[in-house]
Order: sequence, then structure tokens, then C-alpha cells
Amino acid sequence: MEIEKDRKCPHCGSTLQPMEGPPETGWGIILVCDNNQCPYFLGSNDTVHEFNPESAIGFRYAENPDNGYQDFCLAAYCGESFIDACKEGSDKK
Ligand SMILES: [Zn+2]
Repeated sequence: MEIEKDRKCPHCGSTLQPMEGPPETGWGIILVCDNNQCPYFLGSNDTVHEFNPESAIGFRYAENPDNGYQDFCLAAYCGESFIDACKEGSDKK
């Protein structure tokens, strides 16, 4: 399936980056806003911190091409993230 490469994050305007979904989700390639300055991502971590100040998890804006580009929030560690791991994985074709 062709994945649109020019999808943009509605929150910060960054181009969404294709990456493999976490293996346990069964997703294929998903599109994710990987901008650490994205207001959606930054705001999400504040929300998480209200419940768990120790948490380094935030939510990134993402779309699932397999599902008509429906948007969802992808849980991501703000520090060393599985997103980075996914990126490395998707580079090895
Ligand atoms: Zn964004």
C-alpha cells in the first residue's frame, strides 16, 4: 500500500514520519509526528505528570494509514523511546 508522505501534524505542522508500529500492536507502518516541540506532545506529558510525576510518557499525534488515516495518540517515552527503536527498525528494509 502506498503511504502518503505529505501528511502534516495539525498541531505543529510538521510532516508526519512513517515508522513501524510497535510489534505487539500488529500495526503496519504508521505516521507519527516526531517533533519534540509539538504542542500536542508537550501538553500530553503535562497531563500524564498530573497523574504520575515520575512518568516519562507522553502522547504523540499519529495516524494509521491502514485505517483511513484515522488519528490516534501514540504513547511514547519522552526520554529514550521505543519510537527511536522503531525508527531504527524501519530503516533496515
Ligand atoms: Zn505535531
